[in-house]
Amino acid sequence: MKKKIWLSSPHMSGKEMEYVQEAFASNWIAPLGPNVNGFEEDLKKYLGGKKEVTVLSSGTAAIHLALIQLGVSRGDEVLCQSFTFSATANPILYQGATPIFIDSETETWNLCPDLLEEAILDRLSKGKKPKAIIAVHLYGMPYNVTKINELGQKYDIPIIEDSAEALGSEFNGKKCGTFGDFSILSFNGNKIITTSGGGALMTKNLDLKLKTVHLATQARDEAPHYQHSKIGYNYRMSNVLAGIGRGQMQVIQDRVDKRREIFEFYKHKLNNSSFTFLEDPNNCKSNRWLTCILTPSFKKREEIRLALEKENIESRPLWKPMHKQPIFEKYVSYSNGVSENLFKKGLCLPSGSNSTESELQRIVGVLKSF
Ligand SMILES: *Cc1c(COP(=O)(O)O)cnc(C)c1O
Repeated sequence: MKKKIWLSSPHMSGKEMEYVQEAFASNWIAPLGPNVNGFEEDLKKYLGGKKEVTVLSSGTAAIHLALIQLGVSRGDEVLCQSFTFSATANPILYQGATPIFIDSETETWNLCPDLLEEAILDRLSKGKKPKAIIAVHLYGMPYNVTKINELGQKYDIPIIEDSAEALGSEFNGKKCGTFGDFSILSFNGNKIITTSGGGALMTKNLDLKLKTVHLATQARDEAPHYQHSKIGYNYRMSNVLAGIGRGQMQVIQDRVDKRREIFEFYKHKLNNSSFTFLEDPNNCKSNRWLTCILTPSFKKREEIRLALEKENIESRPLWKPMHKQPIFEKYVSYSNGVSENLFKKGLCLPSGSNSTESELQRIVGVLKSF
């Protein structure tokens, strides 16, 4: 059997252990400490310095804390991009609120601004103002930030920016993760950088960061004893794992550059094929977290996926839209067929920044036989 090629596996810099060892040496084996603060500073700087960063146990936890701080609760409606991973939508249900799913545009594969406005107007006409909009930079491709922000402002609805897959992506020269009222990142094992598991919530000011930390550390009131006047969560990142994050931040730009190179490699090698690639719109720079291809049909997509599997190469269909998921299909959705078509014909190719030239050649060899 040939060596397994993964879709996106952890890629250490070699610096991580120094920070992890520091945590051990100083006995900061807790969900606070110098690595937590240091990782937050590294992220803040990388994102341009204007947003406060709180590192948490996961990206999902970050979305949950964003919804809580926006006051989303039982009976509220939240507009959510349908073409995404389920972790974007699940926290809406944690709050007992109702997700309303919105389909994608073809230019970015993300939240369609026209459909979003249609949905807002329809919800308003039914007497229900949505509490929040969750937009996603899927596969690292920025959504149309200008238009989505305009709609958020026009209708006075806050935006949660899911940048879980988009660390290092840019829109108009600014980093993704800085465009929402709240923005989130994920450091899961398969993301652009990893802490094995982890996430971050970006907020507009220090006050909101302090609120985030408070909620993420069991919402203790100021008192010598343990006193609570809010529901708390145990969502803070461990100082040991934040050490991994600090080591990863030293090579973040290399990781993004390498993923973009891999995208170009596939595009170049497959330029005469029946596959199509999503190009960066003018003002956008995707981190190319995963290179995705569109094949001519569902049948072809499956043939290719199985042929890769036979060669011990992992690939994966694009995300199945939420409005087609068994757990979510009962909710209202505004669809145009775009995400369903992408799901049918699309395939994610191995794109890890640790991919070798010979691995990529092996993958392209299989793809070229189609
Ligand atoms: C990974 C991911 C999340 C969740 O992040 P975790 O850290 O795994 O909880 C949320 N949204 C999207 C789009 C993701 O890809």
